[in-house]
Amino acid sequence: MPDHSAKATAPMTDGREAPDAEDGGRFVALLPLPLEETFDYLGPEDSLLAPGDLVRVPFGPRRLPAVVWEPDRSQKPVPYEKLKELAERIDLPPFPEVHRRFIEWVARYNMAPRGAVLRMSLSVPDALEPPAPVVRYAITAEGRARLDAQDAMLSGPAGSDAPQGAPAVRSRQGGMRLTKARCALLRVLAEGPPRSATEAAAAAAVSSSVMKGLVGAGWAERRLSPPDDQLEIPDWRKQGVALSPAQAQAADELRGRIGKGYSVTLLDGVTGAGKTEVYLEAVAAALSAGRQVLVLLPEIALSAQWLERFEARFGCPPALWHSELTAARRRLTWRALVTGRARVVVGARSALFLPFPDLGLIVVDEEHDPAFKQEDGVIYQARDMAVVRAHLGAFPIVLASATPSLETVVNVKQGRYGSISLPDRHGGADLPEIRLIDLRRHPPPRIEGHGQSWISAPLREAIAAALEKGEQALLFLNRRGYAPLTLCRACGHRINCPNCTAWLVEHRHLRRLQCHHCGYAAAHPDRCPACQAEDSLAACGPGVERLAEEIARLFPKTRVRLVASDTLTGPGAAAQLYRAIRDHEVDILIGTQVLAKGHHFPGLTLVGVVDADLGLYGGDLRAAERSYQLLHQVAGRSGRAKKPGLVFLQTAEPEHPVMQALAGGTRDAFYETEAAQRQQAGMPPFGRLAALILSSRDAQALDELAAVLARTAPRGPDIQVLGPAPAPMAILRGRHRRRFLFKSGRDTKPQAHIVKWLASARRAAARRPGAGKVRVQVDIDPYAFL
Ligand code: ADP
Ligand code: ZN
Repeated sequence: MPDHSAKATAPMTDGREAPDAEDGGRFVALLPLPLEETFDYLGPEDSLLAPGDLVRVPFGPRRLPAVVWEPDRSQKPVPYEKLKELAERIDLPPFPEVHRRFIEWVARYNMAPRGAVLRMSLSVPDALEPPAPVVRYAITAEGRARLDAQDAMLSGPAGSDAPQGAPAVRSRQGGMRLTKARCALLRVLAEGPPRSATEAAAAAAVSSSVMKGLVGAGWAERRLSPPDDQLEIPDWRKQGVALSPAQAQAADELRGRIGKGYSVTLLDGVTGAGKTEVYLEAVAAALSAGRQVLVLLPEIALSAQWLERFEARFGCPPALWHSELTAARRRLTWRALVTGRARVVVGARSALFLPFPDLGLIVVDEEHDPAFKQEDGVIYQARDMAVVRAHLGAFPIVLASATPSLETVVNVKQGRYGSISLPDRHGGADLPEIRLIDLRRHPPPRIEGHGQSWISAPLREAIAAALEKGEQALLFLNRRGYAPLTLCRACGHRINCPNCTAWLVEHRHLRRLQCHHCGYAAAHPDRCPACQAEDSLAACGPGVERLAEEIARLFPKTRVRLVASDTLTGPGAAAQLYRAIRDHEVDILIGTQVLAKGHHFPGLTLVGVVDADLGLYGGDLRAAERSYQLLHQVAGRSGRAKKPGLVFLQTAEPEHPVMQALAGGTRDAFYETEAAQRQQAGMPPFGRLAALILSSRDAQALDELAAVLARTAPRGPDIQVLGPAPAPMAILRGRHRRRFLFKSGRDTKPQAHIVKWLASARRAAARRPGAGKVRVQVDIDPYAFL
């Protein structure tokens, strides 16, 4: 049993006398449920439960884990007689105060219930139970004696000449023979720590059934012990790679910020500059100061190369935190983290909510990446919340990117964030040359028997030239599947999703049509669902599958690999792919954005972007910025080693500022123009935005609430409310949707206005029958405008 001595709270017994002090034993708990309020409970009078302690409490018919919280003065305390009693105290270190403040902050800022944020921190309820012990085997004194006897016999007078299979000797009590296999297994146990039968047998190269014999003879014994979390302590004393002078200076500056309180630093370096090697030095410094470190990566499942580098630097892998961990690993890692055993956690955005007891540095790599925005449940921007966490914890945070977000660039400019730049690629490689192909002058031809093609003559020639030289090429098209639209040539019908305002995407290798928004899938029909015409359905537009078809036709003898999020499943597949690329088993890669991020492929010298205009439109405030970032990242895969890189962007709008900035290498000028435009329009980061998304299966109830909200919308000199507008995705997963956009100046906080607005609208709408059927989501600092 866990030791409760410090704050002893055995499970409650009946008939306990109520304490005489009115508040004795009373405590407040926050539960991991989507609720804002805390609940009052009664602990044993002698217990000194303090905020942060983990407990289990009754809630309705259930018992739930909870965290003891600071009493909330705005809530009326429950009368003493009505208090329910604590079920038990959980024997784990308490949630640190700074982490509780972080939960409060995130909830308030993002307008989410506190309990919903807590739930992200208590996402592994099983981890609160002590892990089930595992059986391991250890050698007994008897066993040691038996081995010694064997050794003495072998090294006796005739020992050195003893024949290979020395005669097996009988055990004293059991009459067991010490066969060769048993002897080998016993030696493994004698030389190492207790191990499971499987592990020990593997080390001795014998069958695992041999262990039974050892136990039967009394030479080995079973021991129950907690499972091993298999975490090693990263060795920060290990020597890192030799840094270039510029890298060394950057590393020095970052190291110098460790232990000096809160700071935000943008590590701004071109693709291939060695930003990772530099910030790993800051990680080492934080570790040597005894602090934990969190590294957030946008796409942790695809980070095989990053993990290799971490291991090379620190001698062991970091603890990982992402959605593809097994339940068992998740449990062990969570416990290792809260008990402080895990020193470095590398994770996706959800890792930010782990209750680190001693966090002292956060690194957000590819800080501009849209994957840091969580779009469902609690909606938040993990990069921004990470900055808040660092501020609350009074430690430094490093944001790394070759194409920082405009928010970060402006923060640097205004002096809120520091910045360190690495202007050159490591090892003297040049940045690739970026050329535009004007699709109006070089339209890809229609090919007899194949229809429309997608690769223009200049791009085709460039691919041929790269292959000729034995180099690798990457063709980028940010669209999964075969074709984004299936159209009936007879009646003009477009096949769309029954649940969403979206076309179904053809996936030819699966012979299916799929919705990329809700996951709906159906067999590809042979006739038009509207007019029943046969053989009338035509695929319109390209996806990566269709591009692969064209490449196979143009370059029949090359080895092509298609890479998209639906074909690259998990870290194992990714690692295998990188190996194949590195070992040049692939000539042409065709991929979506999963290939754009962070990878280092030394043999890749040509990047062709098939449709550079794809992300430019769609009413998204950040469309130009994001296009620039994504295309720059993709371009950055080219020419990272000895041979120079070349990038072609196929565009119908070569004069667009994004294309001009990419081709001219004028990043900072592009950011300045973008910033000026946003400032003029009062858009983020110069103004504030919040979106309200209303959704319901009941369109009438939806419109009624929307009308009430429109009537009660906040007003003010600095406030503008747009909407209600049908969302661009007017129907998603079968729910109708309407949007409002709240826009204000930087000094007006939207949250307070929205709270009041929602409350009054809810009151006004409460009497209507459908009001309860409408869900309202608030998205502070929205990134998606669908
Ligand atoms: P970035 O993240 O800035 O694009 P990386 O950190 O991925 O750049 O570095 C690019 C490549 O150069 C990686 O393979 C990395 O291991 C290598 N590299 C960077 N700096 C050094 C160094 N000082 N010594 C050896 N290799 C380095
Ligand atoms: Zn759908």
